[in-house]
Amino acid sequence: MTRAITPRSRKVRVLATLGPASNTPEMIAKLFEAGADAFRINMSHGDQASKVDVIKAIRALEKQFGRPTTILADLQGPKLRVGRFSEGRIELAHGSTFVLDRDPTPGDATRVELPHREIFEAIEPGARLLLDDGKLVLRVLEHEHDRIVTHVEVGGPLSNNKGLNVPDVVLPMAALTDKDRSDLAFATEEGVDWIALSFVQRPEDLAEARKLIAGRAALLAKVEKPAAIERLEEIVEMCDGVMVARGDLGVELPPETVPPLQKRIVETARRLGRPVVVATQMLESMITSPSPTRAEVSDVATAIYDGADAIMLSAESAAGAWPVESVAMMNAIGNSVERDPMHGDRVRFTVTRPDPTTADALAEAAKNIAATISAKAIVCFTTSGSTARRIARERPSVPLLVLTPNHDTARRLGLLWGTHAVHTRDVDSFEEMVAKAKRMALRHNMVQAGDRVIIMAGIPFRTPGATNVLHVVSILGDELKNYG
Ligand code: PGA
Ligand code: MN
Repeated sequence: MTRAITPRSRKVRVLATLGPASNTPEMIAKLFEAGADAFRINMSHGDQASKVDVIKAIRALEKQFGRPTTILADLQGPKLRVGRFSEGRIELAHGSTFVLDRDPTPGDATRVELPHREIFEAIEPGARLLLDDGKLVLRVLEHEHDRIVTHVEVGGPLSNNKGLNVPDVVLPMAALTDKDRSDLAFATEEGVDWIALSFVQRPEDLAEARKLIAGRAALLAKVEKPAAIERLEEIVEMCDGVMVARGDLGVELPPETVPPLQKRIVETARRLGRPVVVATQMLESMITSPSPTRAEVSDVATAIYDGADAIMLSAESAAGAWPVESVAMMNAIGNSVERDPMHGDRVRFTVTRPDPTTADALAEAAKNIAATISAKAIVCFTTSGSTARRIARERPSVPLLVLTPNHDTARRLGLLWGTHAVHTRDVDSFEEMVAKAKRMALRHNMVQAGDRVIIMAGIPFRTPGATNVLHVVSILGDELKNYG
């Protein structure tokens, strides 16, 4: 018999980015034990070959800990950069004039190359060019097809290949660069569960990625461009999950607009039943310090009270001095917020009206029944994971145990609020379904004798997309003997 597996009772998921500080099998296992539910591999750094062993190490946890793992590969996207300088670095003076052009000759304090044709096509007088995470601000005075003349509104040091944001115009850029296409092919080949697309501007950007992924992974849209905010609903509908990418979002838009946008993006994703990740600078000071600021703890808590599915660590777990402590802190904040008696009510403050489908109606009913009769768990049988998403969207007060014969489904569900997925054989009869639901709930330490469990499934069995059964069962005392 399989040993008892106690799932985490925490509902919010912790997504930890891996990097030089955490890429080894030992560290990955430590992060997992400290509370990481899913891992993000950042394709912006390092080559493909270096990711192969990382992916292997994550999957090795499945045998070791007896539960599925979840891997998200984050594509760099069309990240814009300036060219190089002959001295490596210049000082841009406030109020001076600075030119961006197509000339690859190393630049100086008057000009530099801008190796992105699309910016020259789309730029307009009055638009801003933000350099180095928005630290420097240029305002466009005039432009020709190969030259942009700007006024330095905010100056400062600028070095080779620094990043550039162009928030005021929609750039006619493909969402996927050649590097992204190659990374996407690599990641799907390696069997990752989610692909994240950076700098999404329009719904069509997602259509292209979707085609290339061809069903081999779920697709997550990073919302970090003002243009994406303008077409938010369409973009959320086009993807399987969303990230509130506050880093670039807060460069492209004034930082004070990010908190209301975070609320709006989380609300939209929840309403449309897509898992949503809140990301960037969540525990930023833990890159160098073993304890976070009170403001950071409060920020993580806010994302959890907003009802986000997952909270993310970036450099804290990828390149910082305290990766395990950062994950442990996320875990602790999650547990603390979820112990707050007001947590459930605050999370369910966002109303997610069910779609007029049997599956959605049953998902809503399952949440209500669980609360009314104080059931201890909802157990759902699903092939595609769609029933699980519908139930999780309702944010039930009890854990959701998902039983699926599809290994890929089990892994993808690792980003979903309150969901514990188990890869297991399908059932063929109603009796078998009930017995298995009870057995698995017991094995995962979710129930005891006398507890009630809600079961959701589709009959006929083995037919995807037909959830039509909601069944309530009690765990009897003698059932404990075999599994207790
Ligand atoms: P990044 O995306 O870390 O890949 O830039 C997240 C963000 O911009 O917040
Ligand atoms: Mn970003």
